[in-house]
Amino acid sequence: MAQMPLYNTLTLPGGRIWLRAVDYQALTGKAPAAGERITLLMQKEDQAREDLTEKSFFPLAVAGVVAEADENGFVTVELQNRVHIDEIVRLPNQTFSMSLSRRPETEDLDPAEAQRRLKAVKDRILSFAAGQRWEGFLRSFAEHWDSLWTVAGAMSPWLHTSVEERYALLEKDSLKERFDALERMLLEGLEMVDVQSAAQSAQREDYEKLYRESAIKKQIEYLQKELDAMHPENVSEIRRLELKLEEAGMNETALKEGRKVLNRLKGEGSSSPEAGMLTDWLDLLTSLPWKKAEAREISMEEARRALNAEHSGLEKVKRRILQQIAVLRLKGRQSGSILCFVGAPGTGKTSIGESIAKALGREYVRVSLGGVRDEADIRGHRRTYIGSMPGRIIDGIHKCGTSNPVMVLDEVDKLSASYNGDPASALLEVLDPEQNFSFTDHYLNVPFDLSDVLFICTANSLDTIPEPLLNRMEVIQFQGYSPLEKRQIAREHLLPKAMAAVGIPAGKLEVSEGAVCRLIEEYTREAGVRGLKKRLDQLCRTAAVSLVERPEETLRVEAEDVPDYMDMNPVHRKQVGESARPGIVTGLAWTPVGGDILYIQTLLTRGSGKITVTGQLGDVMKESAEIAVSLVKSMLPEQAEVFRDHDLHIHVPDGATPKDGPSAGITLTTALASLVTGFPVPPEVAMTGEVSLSGDVNPIGGLPEKLMAAQRSGVKRVFIPRENLQDLKEVPEEVRNQLTIQAADTVEEVLSALEIPCRPSIPQAI
Ligand code: ADP
Repeated sequence: MAQMPLYNTLTLPGGRIWLRAVDYQALTGKAPAAGERITLLMQKEDQAREDLTEKSFFPLAVAGVVAEADENGFVTVELQNRVHIDEIVRLPNQTFSMSLSRRPETEDLDPAEAQRRLKAVKDRILSFAAGQRWEGFLRSFAEHWDSLWTVAGAMSPWLHTSVEERYALLEKDSLKERFDALERMLLEGLEMVDVQSAAQSAQREDYEKLYRESAIKKQIEYLQKELDAMHPENVSEIRRLELKLEEAGMNETALKEGRKVLNRLKGEGSSSPEAGMLTDWLDLLTSLPWKKAEAREISMEEARRALNAEHSGLEKVKRRILQQIAVLRLKGRQSGSILCFVGAPGTGKTSIGESIAKALGREYVRVSLGGVRDEADIRGHRRTYIGSMPGRIIDGIHKCGTSNPVMVLDEVDKLSASYNGDPASALLEVLDPEQNFSFTDHYLNVPFDLSDVLFICTANSLDTIPEPLLNRMEVIQFQGYSPLEKRQIAREHLLPKAMAAVGIPAGKLEVSEGAVCRLIEEYTREAGVRGLKKRLDQLCRTAAVSLVERPEETLRVEAEDVPDYMDMNPVHRKQVGESARPGIVTGLAWTPVGGDILYIQTLLTRGSGKITVTGQLGDVMKESAEIAVSLVKSMLPEQAEVFRDHDLHIHVPDGATPKDGPSAGITLTTALASLVTGFPVPPEVAMTGEVSLSGDVNPIGGLPEKLMAAQRSGVKRVFIPRENLQDLKEVPEEVRNQLTIQAADTVEEVLSALEIPCRPSIPQAI
């Protein structure tokens, strides 16, 4: 008996199946011949013939007989009855030997009903085929369908049933149950094919519509471009914006909003009152640098050269900037805190920002924050306002036109909060790398990525920078220049630039060292070099007149000629007075524009022990004054009797900031001691330091600026707190060399050094 494994055909007794003759031969090892009996086994899964084992088959199989082997190479097998595989053994030649027994079925199917239902299924199949190319073929084929079991054999390739589902049919003993299940399977299969083809054709229609639409759009675009190229002068404003919008490379949100506004503009026409506003907005949106700028390869050598080219000195600052640049190169983006340059005006904070941009090969943009009180200045006004506009950040980006400029936020210490919101918090958002990749300006109203911008802040003083902002920043101090450094800057940078600015060729004007010195000493009073730059500009302008009048001459400006070149009087320079009077002592102050000297004046008048403090320092000074009085009372008990029937008046002239209150402690105490003892302190002696009630001298800030101011003003000897000795390395050598600097731990040391008799401050027994 031939056996034959069959994988995915519905084989049911009473049915008929068709096999290719070659397959038949390959499987059975025989040529097909009518009347040959074969058994069709059902394989559990798709396996190669050589991998088959006894366990590869389901226990029930179908026995059949070859009805016909036609000349087209097809074999028709009539399926007759179910058999059970009682035993199966695999033979060495990849065939199996089996013993089989017949498996009877329950004949419970009413033949008339079966015929009626067969017809219904056939009709359903034929109506499904109606209109198809293969309808005729199917009809002729269907004529031979005499039972549902035959239909099953013919339809099984379209049914997509699993082998388990097919076996479940074969396994059913009741013919009626098998019939019911088969009928359901066939009808469901047809339904599925129907639904699938309906969905496919709907989908096809959708696709066709899409393709058509995009093809039409492309055509329009192409034709429009041709037209624009023929008549560039006729490209309408709206069309121009449309082109820019599509080409700008902006993010999805921005593009969507842009298209929305453009459609509104198209709808309203250019004469509507809103048109101007919409056009301005679109103009800004489309001209922002949405595309990411290529990061340029950074060479440290070039960066160093760019920093040195424009600025003399500032070694510490440059070193820190180079570190930042190196990190930028390694990480590819700005990381860590934002740099904040702090120092007096004209010390090069903004201009070194420009040099950083050059060093990195990026655009430079400066955004001034001085006097900004309104959040809208940073974040923009909402578009609904007439005259609304973007904030300064987006405006800066717009001006520079690249997405990765170096942006210097100038004067962050001049921000102030008002009823219109806090600009500092808006600025925080700008500077925060966690948030600034989607910074939303109120006017623009779509997010813009600021994460490639290198931010640098500048400030004159740290006192007024809001705390949360300060926390984000790393402060770099710009200390102010010594006269020697100023001379060097004038010679190397300011003078050549000033000459070039008015067109004086190099060599036609010589300015002697003495003249530069005189300009610095007599015509400027500053920590930076901004005033000096103005004076040199003026000098060059005046020189230009002479050079035009007498072109053949070379001008040389000596120190004594300087007044002729300036149209101003020398600035009043505070110089220490000559005569010493008890109760007046020179102090040193730090101010946002550099250091300064100040005189603390004290006076006793008849009265009842009241203390009056006048001058700018007010309350802060009052505390220092009270500490000073207590200290003097404790150190000079006899002389201090005088406070009982006298009032004390302390005056601190303008020029200092409230923060200087405490650091004038030692000056105040010395002034009082001098007042009550009658020992004068020479005016060329200055001092700075906080004092405590125990008579200790505590450290202060801003020592370099204070010492520079002292030297400028003719001070010869300075007392500083001992703990500040470490700051002396920040002070230019030429300044240090011209001063006698004495460190002190206690008030007593200072007083003794000045030969004011006193005794140690020992708490008085009460
Ligand atoms: P700031 O921002 O600190 O107020 P700027 O950067 O505006 O100061 O500097 C004012 C002028 O002084 C600029 O023209 C600048 O080139 C010049 N300048 C400042 N410091 C230096 C320096 N170290 N070397 C050369 N020029 C300097």
